[in-house]
Amino acid sequence: MAAIMAARGQGLEQDFDFFVVVDFEATCVKDGRIFPQEIIEFPAVLVDGATGRIVSAFRRYVRPKHHPVLTQFCRELTGIRQEDVDGGVELGDALWLHDSWLKAATAGAGNKRGVRLAVVTWGDWDYRTMLEFECRFKGIEKPSYFDQWINLRVPFQAALGGGGRVNLQEAVRAAGLDWEGRLHCGLDDALNTARLLDEIMRRRVKITITGSLAPPPPIQQKQQPGTSPCGGSSALAPPPIQQKQQPGTSPCGCSP
Ligand code: AMP
Ligand code: MG
Ligand code: MG
Repeated sequence: MAAIMAARGQGLEQDFDFFVVVDFEATCVKDGRIFPQEIIEFPAVLVDGATGRIVSAFRRYVRPKHHPVLTQFCRELTGIRQEDVDGGVELGDALWLHDSWLKAATAGAGNKRGVRLAVVTWGDWDYRTMLEFECRFKGIEKPSYFDQWINLRVPFQAALGGGGRVNLQEAVRAAGLDWEGRLHCGLDDALNTARLLDEIMRRRVKITITGSLAPPPPIQQKQQPGTSPCGGSSALAPPPIQQKQQPGTSPCGCSP
């Protein structure tokens, strides 16, 4: 392993066993806003935190409920066809399938305390805005690993500098890599983001969490002295993630 890492120019130990690189595509219109915006492509690329290698990839198309017919602009931007989303799954099922893929792909890794993983995207939009909004809007509970993330823009700036807001494709090229695939295809965007992550790791930059969702505000209630506000369990405790679940149900059993 040491030889492999030396050969790949690595050597800076990262805090995570795996990085999960995601790039959502969503319904959209030209020069305007669509409400509610919905995820239509859910891709993820698993990167080994020690070697920077891509070890597995996942993709599901997601069927939008509120605007089921994609605009021509959206089809042309993303390359996603109407039949892709017609044959897609609901977002809750995509989250469950992603979680199952991730568990299978990381099984046996890590130590007895579990696998240390962090989700990564280019920018903050995917987790802070898009996934969070749609899950709240539809009452879908998501795994807690989506509640904090690495915005690759931050380590990119540390590794390569540059002031302006470069887009993902510009960043990939600024790092000396060729862009591969189609810009705005979610899986290709995620694969290129993963390649950029590897390149940044080669430059010995420590990859750390850059953003997180604010914890829910504490519940303000009149309370008897000495009692807990919610019957003994902490109001701030994250929801448990169900491990065993039947296919076709959402990750936490609450259908939208
Ligand atoms: P991206 O990851 O950059 O491919 O974009 C994610 C999503 O942002 C797309 O699926 C669209 O919903 C939206 N988006 C990106 N670029 C545009 C654009 N020029 N106009 C409207 N929406 C866009
Ligand atoms: Mg994106
Ligand atoms: Mg994209």
